[in-house]
Parts: sequence; C-alpha cells; structure tokens
Amino acid sequence: MESILVLAHSDETGEQLSKGSLEAVTAGRDLAARLGATLTVGMVCGISGNLAKSLSSAGARLLAVTGEAFAQPRYASDAAACEAICRTAQATIVLAPHSSRFARVMAAVAHRLHGCIDTHVAAIGGTEEIHATRWFYRQRMEAVVTRELRPWFLLLVTGTHSAFVGEAAPVQIEEIAVEVPVLRTTVLGTRAPEQGAILAGTASEGSSQRWETILPDAKLLFVAGAGWTKKQPDGKSHVAEAGELILQFVHAAGASLGSSKSLVDQGGEGTPVLPFLTHLNQVGQTGSTPRHLKGLATCCHGEEPHVVGWRFIGERRAISLDPNCGWTRGKADVVYVADAFQVMERVNALLGTQVPCGVRGGIS
Ligand SMILES: Cc1cc2nc3c(=O)[nH]c(=O)nc-3n(C[C@H](O)[C@H](O)[C@H](O)COP(=O)(O)OP(=O)(O)OC[C@H]3O[C@@H](n4cnc5c(N)ncnc54)[C@H](O)[C@@H]3O)c2cc1C
Repeated sequence: MESILVLAHSDETGEQLSKGSLEAVTAGRDLAARLGATLTVGMVCGISGNLAKSLSSAGARLLAVTGEAFAQPRYASDAAACEAICRTAQATIVLAPHSSRFARVMAAVAHRLHGCIDTHVAAIGGTEEIHATRWFYRQRMEAVVTRELRPWFLLLVTGTHSAFVGEAAPVQIEEIAVEVPVLRTTVLGTRAPEQGAILAGTASEGSSQRWETILPDAKLLFVAGAGWTKKQPDGKSHVAEAGELILQFVHAAGASLGSSKSLVDQGGEGTPVLPFLTHLNQVGQTGSTPRHLKGLATCCHGEEPHVVGWRFIGERRAISLDPNCGWTRGKADVVYVADAFQVMERVNALLGTQVPCGVRGGIS
C-alpha cells in the first residue's frame, strides 16, 4: 500500500507556500485519491502557521520543520529538514516542486533515505502502478517511468498542475525538531530586478542595465524573431523602434519575453543588438520550453521556436510577413500575415488606453 508525502516550501515572501508547492499538493491529492493512499504534506519554512492554514481542506496530515535557519533556501538546512520530514512520514512516494530550492537538495535526500528519484516530471498517471511522465531530448520524446524501489521521489515541473486553493482555517501541525547542521552559507538577502522596471531605460541605451523580461508565471509569452532587425520595406532596419515596441508591449501586457536564437545570436562581445535580450530569453531546442497559456510569435520563421520552444504553449498566434512560412502555418493556431511593426504599434496604442503606462497589467 502506497503512502504519499508532498514536500513544500514557502515562497520568497515567507508568507505563503510557493506556487510550485501548491501544484505538488494538487498532484499529491489526485494521486492519493486514485490509489486510496494516505496523504501527508511536509513544510520547510520560517513560521508554519499562516502557510498551513491554506491547507486546512487538503485532507492531509501536516508536518513542518520551522525556524529562522529554515526560512532561507540553503543546501545543508533544506536537506536536513526534508530528510527529517521523510523519516517521520515514512511515505513510499515523495512529491516535491522542481524549484531551484528543492531541485538542488532532493537527490541527496533520496540517497539518504536509500530511495530513488526522477526529476522534470510533468504528469503522474496510473491506478495499479504509478506512471511518471517526463520529456527527454529537448522535449521531443515523452517517456513513462515506473519503478519498484521505494521511497520514490518525483520532482514536478512547475506549470503542469493547478495550484491547490482552499479556505484558510486553523489546522493541526506536527512540528518536527531538527538540529541545525553546520552551516557554511549565510543568506544575506535576495537581489532581483524590480518588478515593472522594464521601461526604466530605452531599448537603444547601453547594455549595462538589464530588465526583468522573463516571467515564468505570465499568461502570455511574446517571442521576438530576427525579422525585427532585418531591412524593412523602406530598405532600412529599425532596431531602436523595434526595441521600444517590444518592451512597451511586454510591459503593458505583463508578458514574458522569449527570443529566437538568430535574434540573440546577433549580439556579441558586449554589444547586443537589443540590449534587454540575452540567451536566457532564447526559446527552442537549445533554449527553453516555457509553459504559458498563450503565445505570440513575431518576425519569427524558425522551426525550433515554433516546434520545440512552443511545445507547452496553449494557444499560439504568429505575425509574419511571409505567407508561406511553413512553421507558422503548421504550428500556430492563428497567423496574421502582416507587418509586425504596424500591428504592434496598433496593439500598444490599444493597450495604452487600457493599461496606464508604468503599471503592469494583464491581457486575457
Ligand atoms: C543545432 C541548432 C539548434 C538551434 N536551436 C535553436 C533554438 O533553440 N531556438 C531558435 O530560435 N533557433 C534555434 N536554431 C536556429 C533555427 O534553426 C533558426 O535558424 C532560427 O530560429 C531562425 O530565427 P528567426 O525565425 O528569428 O529568423 P529568420 O529565419 O531570419 O526569420 C525572420 C522572419 O521575420 C519575418 N519578418 C521580417 N520583417 C518582418 C515584419 N516587419 N513583420 C513580420 N515579419 C517580419 C521574415 O519574413 C522571416 O520569416 C538552432 C539551429 C541549430 C542548427
């Protein structure tokens, strides 16, 4: 008989569980219901009270390792906390979010428990036995994994399950005392780009300043292709204008910004063509495969962004001058054969009337 443990941690504010953790709770509840198994949720956080209240209706036993040392992500303290929770819960299946915080400790925790681990898990199926699904070869092949060894740890990719939402109510939490191990790392704080700081400069300015453009939780992914920098019908390129249009749109729409390889590759030796783009923005076979509800590709022809980079995008649209582009025609739900400069200028004007400049909005 299986028993399920979900490991969870707080978000950056420390006030609530991270989105990935709440998604793992949903996956744990589904799996427990299917297998008729017991469910435990174990939390690693500074203070557990408020965090756990949101789990009052999860139907789970609640365990927590708390204290100042466990408020911050750090290998030694996180590994010790997760190990203690696993030993208390004695679960056969351990689910956890594939967050940077847990991804770096969970293989070690599985090893300490003499268990095994699979990472990048996108779905869990099966009723008689458990089937963990994940992608290989840059998301081109899907594999279904089953294992006999227990405990079996599964790290779940964020964005694959809906986050658990429940009424906040008082709950019973079993606090587990953990001796803080020797700590070599002191967390001084977090340094991150300011939210909404994208328009702090202009696209044509130098590259020393970076803007926050990668937003994994955004509803929309906007992909910019190399066409933005190509010669346009007037025989000239309009790179500065392209940068302004792109930044205005992603800011007003609260969109995440992706790029084709050809566009980010144009920069080099510290002189990027569009200073707010780096290879971290690249989507595709040698880039990322993010998960967003919707995607809009602009000035983009390549196979990789359309076929691989967009694999997990729900609804896909493209703006291209090329009516014969096989990738947009084959992979986008809607193709606008149009000049992206003109279209985005008009879209930005429409958004400008709805979204005051400088305020991060959202589109549906
Ligand atoms: C091993 C390998 C790995 C690769 N990995 C990746 C990867 O991870 N990601 C990736 O993106 N690529 C990758 N590539 C490159 C990929 O094959 C393509 O070369 C690249 O994606 C093309 O980029 P693009 O579509 O932006 O540019 P282009 O092919 O130059 O297309 C530009 C498009 O913009 C259109 N256009 C121009 N002006 C306008 C306008 N005003 N309005 C509307 N449309 C306009 C043009 O009609 C054209 O269709 C990889 C290649 C290899 C060999």
